[in-house]
Amino acid sequence: MTNIDKVILQMMQVMLQNKLPAIDRIEEESHDPFKVLVGTLLSARTKDETTDAVCRRLFKRVSSYHDLKHLSLIELEELIKPIGFYHTKARHLQRLPHVLEERFAGIIPRTIEELILLPGVGRKTANLVLVIAFKIPAVCVDTHVHRIMNRLGYVSTKTSLETEMALRGKLPVKHWLVFNSCFVSYGQHVCLPRNPRCNECRIFSECERVGVNR
Ligand code: SF4
Repeated sequence: MTNIDKVILQMMQVMLQNKLPAIDRIEEESHDPFKVLVGTLLSARTKDETTDAVCRRLFKRVSSYHDLKHLSLIELEELIKPIGFYHTKARHLQRLPHVLEERFAGIIPRTIEELILLPGVGRKTANLVLVIAFKIPAVCVDTHVHRIMNRLGYVSTKTSLETEMALRGKLPVKHWLVFNSCFVSYGQHVCLPRNPRCNECRIFSECERVGVNR
């Protein structure tokens, strides 16, 4: 049976030896929920290095939601272009200030139910914003969490939503603020999507390697 305390401790050590995930870096450098929200929106289906570079460029022009109002759709697209699905994400960024003002008086909300009312924000983004920007315990399941939790045998689920629900009932709340960052980092450096580096894995003894070719 997986000792999840040990797993997260080992993953944390690996994370601290490497570059932090992009959204953690944005929080570390800005302490700004707006920037964490924008970074999280842009990071979906995008490599961390690309998210990092694009956010650095974008945040030179945009430091609050007010600045988004002065950019045309084409300017926004140009600014975020290497990002995956940049047409759609630019449209979401353009609508963001209006929804924020109309529904939330310009303040980034602090609940999942409210966050998912913002353009382009789904449960994953909402959960991550709660954890990273507001330090509110939440279960953020992205592709790394879903994949590694299943490989470990800690959950047995088909979709990210199923994984989120399973973890809500099983993962101790004390881990909710940190586990996503640890799993993202571990998924980027060791438990890779296609060729997991099981030979150099610190949690080999805790892992059932479900679905991994041995
Ligand atoms: S043993 Fe392999 S599959 Fe399991 S967590 Fe480590 S790298 Fe991933």
